[in-house]
Amino acid sequence: MHDPNCIFCKIVAGEIPCRKAHEDAEAMAFHDIRPLAPVHLLVIPKRHIATLYDATPADEGILGRLLVLAPVLAKAQGAGDGFRVIMNTGRVGRQEVQHIHLHVIGGPDTLGPMLPRGEH
Ligand code: AMP
Ligand code: ZN
Repeated sequence: MHDPNCIFCKIVAGEIPCRKAHEDAEAMAFHDIRPLAPVHLLVIPKRHIATLYDATPADEGILGRLLVLAPVLAKAQGAGDGFRVIMNTGRVGRQEVQHIHLHVIGGPDTLGPMLPRGEH
């Protein structure tokens, strides 16, 4: 479960400090160290799941829990008028930390379009 090389497992274990926004038995949320907006939280399962590709039906509960926490935490941080959740996955998704995390990004009128519109 605990991956000794995983930075977010180390945060869960209290081995690396964080600005904690929430903790319960299964989940934790903390402020992103390089925020992209006034509100930028990372909501994670305490249990190590590397990527969304590695999630199984046994993870449905915790993945649902992360999503249900998102609006509660967003509101508590001052993003009560909308926010965005992003879960970068794998190489193409540019996932940098290999422990599932939901980005909760918001703040007053800070978000642009979801992605730049190109030719597809
Ligand atoms: P991703 O590309 O979705 O894997 O994003 C990883 C995020 O983790 C980035 O936004 C980083 O700024 C953030 N991050 C990396 N290390 C830490 C840390 N020690 N505390 C808080 N956020 C971190
Ligand atoms: Zn981990």
